[in-house]
Amino acid sequence: MPLRVTILGSGTIIPSLERRATALLVETGEQRFLFDCGPCVLEALEEAGTSFHSLERIFITHYHPDHTLGIGHLLSAINNDRDRFESAQLVLYGPRGLEEFMERLDMLYRSLVMKSDYLRLVEIDEGALTIEGESRIGAVRADHGERTALSYRMDHGGVSFVYTGDTAYTERLVEFAREADLLVTECSFPDDQAVPGHLTPGGVGSLASKAGVGGVVLVHMYPRFGDSDPAASVRKHYNGPVVVASDGMTIDL
Ligand SMILES: [Zn+2]
Ligand SMILES: [Zn+2]
Repeated sequence: MPLRVTILGSGTIIPSLERRATALLVETGEQRFLFDCGPCVLEALEEAGTSFHSLERIFITHYHPDHTLGIGHLLSAINNDRDRFESAQLVLYGPRGLEEFMERLDMLYRSLVMKSDYLRLVEIDEGALTIEGESRIGAVRADHGERTALSYRMDHGGVSFVYTGDTAYTERLVEFAREADLLVTECSFPDDQAVPGHLTPGGVGSLASKAGVGGVVLVHMYPRFGDSDPAASVRKHYNGPVVVASDGMTIDL
């Protein structure tokens, strides 16, 4: 099992007992990576049988609250339980604006960030960065309004997955996701209620089909889907396996 992906949350900022805000835990055996850090992510980690104490690297796609509200919670939890925090360093990666975002958080919570001497911030732009050993994590610019936003791809031990974050369909995302084993993709709204800067099942199907990915997991679904099945709509455009994520689901690659 080179790579295990756990869906910590598959929803949005709208509170739901079934779907927390979208976040992923990725484990390689040696390392743990968190992708996005929205509300309730620490509780979701506990439910997944792990804990914030061993987090080492967090990749933020963009600074909307559903993807970042847990950062203050996390730092405060570590600072108040420092003896049990096992990692030598916590590295927070994010698109341009990370340092400004954290400065503002520091002002808001009275030196929360300043006190976190284990914390390192890394602003990233498009392009690959290598993370120790076999893991390689790349980023591509997402299309999500005026804000800087990224999609991520991780290649490790001969397998790969892509996490879109929030984005509309783009050809560069098709290239970026080319032949990934797994596409964990936002699927915010039904096709007849499309919103700029987000994907619908039709867009996801085109993306998955053109990129030739091995399988699709749908996350970041707004309640507007009601009882309809977004996976069925994706399958009209894509022949591979499609799953609607549920919180706590794990996928082994
Ligand atoms: Zn967003
Ligand atoms: Zn979002």
